[in-house]
Amino acid sequence: MGKTLFERLIAGELPTEIIFQDDLVFAFRDINPKAPVHILIVPKKAIPRIAESTSEDQSLLGHLLLKAAHIANLVGLEKNGYRLVINNGHDGGETVPHLHCHILGGRALSWPPG
Ligand code: AMP
Repeated sequence: MGKTLFERLIAGELPTEIIFQDDLVFAFRDINPKAPVHILIVPKKAIPRIAESTSEDQSLLGHLLLKAAHIANLVGLEKNGYRLVINNGHDGGETVPHLHCHILGGRALSWPPG
């Protein structure tokens, strides 16, 4: 299997604006932002989507969410709030098969999503 698009960003093979990384996760600016602040955080392990995660991934997924909140704080979203989104599969709007959590903020977001 070839690398996923996000593995290529992690490896530095494609350019991106890195916001944060540690041993387990990588966060970068979304190339097509849907809000004034739109960051993606991904596990460095290329789990295709949340539906394919297993109990082995429990601590990694917890770490991902904790770091998403940390990054939201880092970029100044904590005061007014923000949204974390994980799209899964066709109806969920998933387009890149490497699990990622969207961090969206900088404006009031409507609900329900379209
Ligand atoms: P999803 O539709 O939930 O699978 O989200 C995939 C996201 O990846 C979209 O918001 C895209 O704009 C974003 N994206 C695709 N290619 C890149 C890239 N090279 N750098 C940053 N974000 C990207």
